[in-house]
Amino acid sequence: MKIQILKIALCCLIVCSSCHIVLASPIQTFDYNGVRLDNSRLKSQLDHVKSEYLSIPNDDLLKGFRQRAGLAAPGFNMGGWYSNDYFHVFGQIISGLSRMYAATGDAACKAKVDYLIEEWEKTISPDGFFYYTNNPNARHYTYDKMVCGLVDAKLYCNNSRAVSCLNRITDWAIVNLDQTRVYAYNASNGNTEWYTLTENLYRAYLLTGDQKYKDFGDIWAYSEFWDIFANNGNIFDRWQAYHAYSHLNSVNGAGAEYLVKGQPQYLNTLVNAHDYWLTKETYASGGYGPREYLQGSYDNLISSLLGESHFETQCGSWAAFKLCKYLLTNTGDARFGDWVETLTYNGIGASIGLENGNVQYFSSYSIYGSSKKAINKWSCCTGTRPQAVADYADLIWFKDPSNLYVNLYTPSSVNWICDGKTVNVVQRGQLEANDEIEFTLSVSLPVTFGFKFRVPNWISGQPVVKINDVVVQANTNSNHWLEISRQWQTNDKVSIAFPMNLRTKRVDPSKIYPYAIMYGPIFLAAEPKGLNSLASINYNQLNLDFVPVSDRIGTFVRKNNPELILKPYYAYEAGEKYFAYIDPRMDDYSGFTFVGSWSGSGQFRYTNSTGSKIEGKFYGNYIKVEWSKFNDAGKAEIKIDGQVAGIIDQYGPCRGCENAVWTYCLPNGGEHTFSLRVLGQKCEESSNTYINMVSIAAKDYKADINCDEKIDIADLAIFYDTWLFDSTTIPEPVPIGTSFFNGSWSDGNFFNWSVKRTDQQDAFVGCAFNGTGTRLCGVGSKDGGLAEVWIDGSLIDTKDFYSSIDNTSLNFDFSGLQDGEHYIILKVMGSHNPSSTGNIVSFLRFEPLDPGPMIRTGSWNGGYSVVTEQPFWYSSSTNASISRSFTGTGIKLISTSWQDSGIAEIQIDGIVHTSLDLYQHNGVNGIPYEWEVTGLNNGTHTILVRVTGTKNPLSGGNSVNVVDLVPIK
Ligand SMILES: [Zn+2]
Repeated sequence: MKIQILKIALCCLIVCSSCHIVLASPIQTFDYNGVRLDNSRLKSQLDHVKSEYLSIPNDDLLKGFRQRAGLAAPGFNMGGWYSNDYFHVFGQIISGLSRMYAATGDAACKAKVDYLIEEWEKTISPDGFFYYTNNPNARHYTYDKMVCGLVDAKLYCNNSRAVSCLNRITDWAIVNLDQTRVYAYNASNGNTEWYTLTENLYRAYLLTGDQKYKDFGDIWAYSEFWDIFANNGNIFDRWQAYHAYSHLNSVNGAGAEYLVKGQPQYLNTLVNAHDYWLTKETYASGGYGPREYLQGSYDNLISSLLGESHFETQCGSWAAFKLCKYLLTNTGDARFGDWVETLTYNGIGASIGLENGNVQYFSSYSIYGSSKKAINKWSCCTGTRPQAVADYADLIWFKDPSNLYVNLYTPSSVNWICDGKTVNVVQRGQLEANDEIEFTLSVSLPVTFGFKFRVPNWISGQPVVKINDVVVQANTNSNHWLEISRQWQTNDKVSIAFPMNLRTKRVDPSKIYPYAIMYGPIFLAAEPKGLNSLASINYNQLNLDFVPVSDRIGTFVRKNNPELILKPYYAYEAGEKYFAYIDPRMDDYSGFTFVGSWSGSGQFRYTNSTGSKIEGKFYGNYIKVEWSKFNDAGKAEIKIDGQVAGIIDQYGPCRGCENAVWTYCLPNGGEHTFSLRVLGQKCEESSNTYINMVSIAAKDYKADINCDEKIDIADLAIFYDTWLFDSTTIPEPVPIGTSFFNGSWSDGNFFNWSVKRTDQQDAFVGCAFNGTGTRLCGVGSKDGGLAEVWIDGSLIDTKDFYSSIDNTSLNFDFSGLQDGEHYIILKVMGSHNPSSTGNIVSFLRFEPLDPGPMIRTGSWNGGYSVVTEQPFWYSSSTNASISRSFTGTGIKLISTSWQDSGIAEIQIDGIVHTSLDLYQHNGVNGIPYEWEVTGLNNGTHTILVRVTGTKNPLSGGNSVNVVDLVPIK
């Protein structure tokens, strides 16, 4: 049980020890007190999230902290961002568990909080350093989340250590956190998201009354951003890019300042930021910030719908919940509750569960269809998830001394004291099921108060209100509350029906497309089966054309096409495809049908039945067909508009190891027909006539883009949609060996090579490759900066592009991977070492690291032959070796022959193959010596050259030298 006296609600009138009068909000939250969720979608999600987080072993959560402190550290590494100390979520997990305890009363949450803090406290260094490792990536950010966790542990679990821990880590932060407040877009990791610190430091001040927190919070106040909203300015006049979630989160700092200082400018910031987000940045789902950035225009928001990753779901919902709570309580206006409702249906409330620590980082609404995926193991979003879901319990009911307010319509109950009397209200009914929402009261004595209900912005008619089953007239006030004031008795019952219907919600109010279909607050998405006719929906008569599907809540079917089904976005499971936004462009690729006998594999459909076809029409002036190469593949004929446009041969000497594409450019856009016919023919090498199809995509490009560029753009789109810079999951296949750029890179030259340059933080270039390694080629300069290297979703290294001499060639090799397909990303950090004058990263290319690097063991020295003009490595140390992995059917040893050369042993794939006597008989030192082996299986092999320490009797020594080891393909 919580101890009432220790709880200090943010929004109540409180007096701190330093005599700051804290603002009295017009209405207050219950701060979880006396509120419980009852059986509903939200309750199931809360229960699920609670078990997700209760089941994380404490030893795993504490492992790195204990290791850093030199304590015994049992348990396993959590992996992902957690183990890499990357935007660390420990503080948020403490916060989430504390709030879940307050929301549910489950003592296991409090026990876990208490244990974690007790054990973590032991790992805090004497100076207050408290991070997971000695090398955290985001010190401001992680400190902020830890402050929140400790404040919540005190507020909601009455944890006895939280305040002293808070004190210690804050003393460290005051001394050590960089206070230059570089704007985040250009800042190095040392400054990450400093502009969100004010809120939690002010909360710490409100909790403890210690001026230290307020003073430190003042340092991070982001008035240069907040004031733009207060003054109704344009944030893009200041910077060209804003990270979406953290900037909304920053606005909540103005919320906390308003509570403490009461100056109206802070409230103006909150109101105007809210209205800006909802009118300019937000999709119908309530989500915002495609690929995590604010867009600044409807056109940008519309074009984002051609791609994926539209809303950082968990973090973005959390920031919006907090903002709306500040606004509801401080303005008393119910309109600020609408966004909360939207997100409980379509934001975090629609998210799938964790999968092995992976989280639904993004919600995607592409017009080409999307699905929900869990990615980014133990990322930031796994921190905000338990916080925001617990917060459902603090977003339903509100109060002031003589009124009870209902913001969310969801089964729940509340206990409230009004005028000295106990009031209990039970809420029942589901909006999405078209239920009347029912409120049943029990009171200790008859009591008079105002009962107020948020009138949602989506209602399609006047709410119908009944008291004790009798319809009554009830008015909606200017603050959007429907109010009933009377004396209430036990068993009094209020029921309200909010009429709702199907409606469209456009991205740009002045453009019909793209639009989403909403049912009341619910964001609907179409099942893919009915896709062919989706773009032809008559948006003017949704309520005539669609009828509800009985026994499927919130689901509708088109009267004249039973395949076209709309159901709530929240009802889609992980991996299930849906179409959320409707735009005629979606027809570009949707209309293909498979005729004849085709089978499906996970990645593609295939057949070897001669005459089977793929047919359909597309819109645009460009079409791209993608398949996977196989050694039993055959040929197919493609016709465009009835004319043969090409024959594709899908043979490759492998089994699905590589995808290939066929593209075709038409002189005009508009409607075209496409057909592919299985010919039953094959090339000589192939063992069968199979044809497979991975994807068909059509686009309409502007006339001024030539055909080659179209291909690049199409490939780029595939990459860009599936592969984010901080993804810790292996992305979907992209063409091997093609480099993809994200962010703004400019073109330059390095001798004859073209080079791409940028200093934009988080810009990246990536590439998929086969084999055991890859080489990154770049150019160093005096203004070179730092970049991270990620392979297969893990951060593996930081590379420095600084060189004291401009135009220095840089090669970085990454080797020793398991043979197979991998992905590398070079991500610009926007920072540099102290000698450098800039953050420039100059990228040339990724090269296959085939052959792999020459790996030396034992003692080797560098030498040079003036005859061959080649440098080499040499050694006379017995058993010293040089090895190299390579792919091919053979390999050539290039060496030089000397009068003191000895005998080398050659091993292939670990087996002794031969011995070579490098002794030179002709009296000339350093002449070329070459030897090769051929006839190996075409595949990956290793050659090893070993110094035997032996020689022929004529030689003056036993030295072995290697110039190069060159694979034979
Ligand atoms: Zn996040």
